[in-house]
Amino acid sequence: MAQRFEEAKKRIFGDVYVCRKCNATNRTEDPESSSCRKCGYSNLRPKNAEFAG
Ligand SMILES: [Zn+2]
Repeated sequence: MAQRFEEAKKRIFGDVYVCRKCNATNRTEDPESSSCRKCGYSNLRPKNAEFAG
């Protein structure tokens, strides 16, 4: 059951990262080598971290 929830989360929030500087959402599969599409800041956090608390 937990697995199913993880998959749902992944489907909804997978590959979505939020810029730590301007909070713009960025869709990328490779956050480590990507930067914010808005401000160019390279420090992105996964959006699903909001769920984890
Ligand atoms: Zn930004």
